[in-house]
Amino acid sequence: MLILSAFVVLLVGDCGSTFLYHVPQHAWFTLHLRTHHNRKRSYFDHAVLSLDPWVLLDGFLGALPYIAVAGFVARFSWEGALVGLALGQIHVWWRHTTQIGWRTPSWIARIARPLWIVLPEDHDGHHRNPQIEFGDIFRFYDAPARALLRRLRRGTRSKLGAPRFNGGPAY
Ligand SMILES: [Zn+2]
Ligand SMILES: [Zn+2]
Repeated sequence: MLILSAFVVLLVGDCGSTFLYHVPQHAWFTLHLRTHHNRKRSYFDHAVLSLDPWVLLDGFLGALPYIAVAGFVARFSWEGALVGLALGQIHVWWRHTTQIGWRTPSWIARIARPLWIVLPEDHDGHHRNPQIEFGDIFRFYDAPARALLRRLRRGTRSKLGAPRFNGGPAY
């Protein structure tokens, strides 16, 4: 029960965080882009070390879905809920370590790949190009997240009546 509960926190929490927070932030808002994707600072710094209230707010809002799922799962196993949250936090630190020189050993990559787990190198891709590599912990959220992002952007653009370009560079 402990392992199942922890797994549900990560699986459902990542789903909620990706589709309810991360993608809408990329489509409509600026908080996450100003903080997590602030290119003036090292992303290890603002994902792991920073105490800036806006950075913390972004982290907290992104973590809320995990916390909500953990609150529900705690009815079945509070230990599992806490383990899930702890693993989620450890993964936050780990997935931002590429910038400080971490290279994932090939044996870890071999285990993580078939499980669709986001490696630091994958998340580094999201910081290099914020249009790709969605999903905090699981990579299978990336494709549906990109599809949703495209729909939200299209919807917003047509509502605003902005011209639609076919072809040409996409900014
Ligand atoms: Zn990040
Ligand atoms: Zn992002």
